[in-house]
Formats: sequence, C-alpha cells, structure tokens
Amino acid sequence: MSEKSGNIFSKVQRYYQDYGLRARELKDQGKKVIAYLCSLVPVEIITATGLVPLRIRGDVHEPITKGDTQLEVIACPFVRSCFDIALKGKYDFCDGLIIPHACDSMARTYSVWRYSLGLPYSHFINLPHAVSGPSMEFFTAELNTFRKSLGRFAKKEISDEDLAEAIHLYNVNRDKAKALYGLRKSNPPLISGTEIAKVLTVGMSLPVAESNELFDDVLGELGQRKEAPLQKAPRIMVDGACVDNIDFISLVEDSGANVVVDSLCIGTRDYWPHVDVGGDPMEAIAHRYLDKINCPRTYREKVGETYEEDLEARFGDIGSLRKEFEVDGVILYIYKYCDPFGFEVSSRKAYLDSLKIPVLYLEDEYSAGTIGRLRTRIQAFLEMIG
Ligand code: SF4
Repeated sequence: MSEKSGNIFSKVQRYYQDYGLRARELKDQGKKVIAYLCSLVPVEIITATGLVPLRIRGDVHEPITKGDTQLEVIACPFVRSCFDIALKGKYDFCDGLIIPHACDSMARTYSVWRYSLGLPYSHFINLPHAVSGPSMEFFTAELNTFRKSLGRFAKKEISDEDLAEAIHLYNVNRDKAKALYGLRKSNPPLISGTEIAKVLTVGMSLPVAESNELFDDVLGELGQRKEAPLQKAPRIMVDGACVDNIDFISLVEDSGANVVVDSLCIGTRDYWPHVDVGGDPMEAIAHRYLDKINCPRTYREKVGETYEEDLEARFGDIGSLRKEFEVDGVILYIYKYCDPFGFEVSSRKAYLDSLKIPVLYLEDEYSAGTIGRLRTRIQAFLEMIG
C-alpha cells in the first residue's frame, strides 16, 4: 500500500474524504471490520483478533436528521452525528460495533445503536470511572471478557503473543505520530495543524500496520520540505474533546494562527500514551485506557493540599505541552451537551490562568453550517495575543 512522496497527501485526502474506504476494500477481500466509538476502546485487542478496527467519525457537513428521530437531542452533537450517519448506512458494511462507557452520551445510547444498526456483533465495554486498585482489577476482568467474546465471534483464540504484537504495532504508531508533532516545534511549523489533523484522523481508519506505513510516508515527504508552508503567526493549542475533522482547526489557521499542538481525543490524548511492555498485557492495556488517557470522564482523587496542586496534577500534561510547543494561546473548544468537558471548563480555565496564558472558550455544535460564526471571536482573540 506504500505510496511514495509527492502523492502521499493526495492519498491522505482520498482516505479522509471517503472515510472508511480502506476498511471497505479489506471487507471486500474477506476481512471482518469492527467499528468503534471513542479513544477508550482498546484497539490492540481488536487487532490481535485479526479484525480490522475502524474508528467511527461523524460528519459536520451532514445535517443530523434521521438520528434525531431516535436519540434525545440532549446527547452531544458529536455522538448524534455519528449515529445519524451510521443510521444512513455509512457503517453498514461493518461486522461489529464497540462502544465504551466513556460518557453518558455514549453509555446511554449504546442499546439504541445496537438495536438500530443490528450488526452481527456488538459489545459495550464497561469502563469504571475511578482510577483505583479495585477499578483496575474490575476493568482488567472486563477486558478479559471482551477478549473472549471477540475471540468467539472471530473464531480465534487470542494468545498473549498476538496481544504483544498488536501492542508493539500501536506503540510504534504512537511514536510516529509523536514524530509528526515534532515537526510543529519550529517557528513556523513544518506541518500545519490542518494537515496533521487529517493524517491522524485517517490513521484511525486503517489497520495499524498500514497506518504506520502512511505515517512513515508522510514523515518522508515532510523531510523533503525545504521551507515551511506557513508564515510565522500566533502559536495556538486547541484543547477539547472529540474533534474528528479539520474544519475547526482550519478555521483557526485561516483566521491567522498556527495550531501547533492539541489536547484532543484524535490528538495527543489518544496518540501519546503507550501500553507498557514486559508485564501482563491485559493489565498493561487496562492501565493505558483507564489511567494514562487523561479524559475528564475518569475521576481522579484529589492530589496535594491546595487547589493549585490539584490543578497541576490534573492538567499538568497541558502545561507541559504548552512549554514544549511554545504556545501563545489556548482555545478551549467544547461541544454543547458534552458534560465531561463542560463540567471541567472552569477548572481548565483556572489552570491555564495560573500559567498566565490567554484562553478563549468556545462552545460549538459540531456543524460546518454554524462553525463560521466563531470566526470573529477567534480573530479578536488572535489580535489580542498577536
Ligand atoms: S464530545 Fe463529550 S459528550 Fe460527546 S462523546 Fe465526546 S466526551 Fe462524550
């Protein structure tokens, strides 16, 4: 599948535009495809089973119509959009569906998905909300149940060696993604935020070995770039949840900024943490998904004596990214009705204020039709920090 330099961004564009294209091709060749929602599904187990994982995306360009006949409109618009296009047939070719207990918008709609899509296999991953010894034990047991259930469906016993190989491939994938981020450290960056968002989104629609090849080809292509494609501009971090499209990032860049890093689900939140190697693979997978992925749906005990110490423990990763990528300002970008992130807005802002970094908070509706109205506020923010 390797496609050498020059063509690589047109290939990325093709897979981005016709999302799921490669999974459909593999399905035609006799492979089974498992669709999943959210960063909290352990894709290592799907790959170890010999199945093709395909992360479900919504579509900001498609009005939510059919989906709203079955889901309450107080579910977040991202989940409603994913469900809407699934109902319209986008993922009909898939053999299975996996949804984790990430947030209420996912957990409370799983049975509707399962019933409405009627795919041959479906599974709900019961992910606890607290990080503690008993929760970790519970989650490891839950993942073992998932491993057996998926193995029964695929008629394959998943060995620890299968898991170790899948873990290795995903860890390599995360290293390559991190190398792509490294190209954003220069000023101006060698890759735009819009380009990287597209590459990372496409990466989640491919078998991991092919995603690794794609990232290698992109890195190879960027290595040939003599000049940055961008001008110097305010360096922005986007902090938020499930941004699975380029529309918002490109709006920020078109408004006169360079998006140099993120704290997003299809971004550093998911692409950076590794699964530890050398110990029990299921425990290591449980540890990554319950503890290492820093998502507000997971409750962590208060750390330290003061509010400031607790904020540092909770959001220190954002502070480190800010330093590493020399960020001038943060845009906190949250979807309406996204409770986990919505509840945390004040503490995220308090943390960023403590770093003395300018913050713009935007609430949006996951729609290309309404996103443009954020432009003026973004421009005013960039003028302020520029
Ligand atoms: S945007 Fe928020 S509410 Fe929606 S799926 Fe993501 S975490 Fe859940």
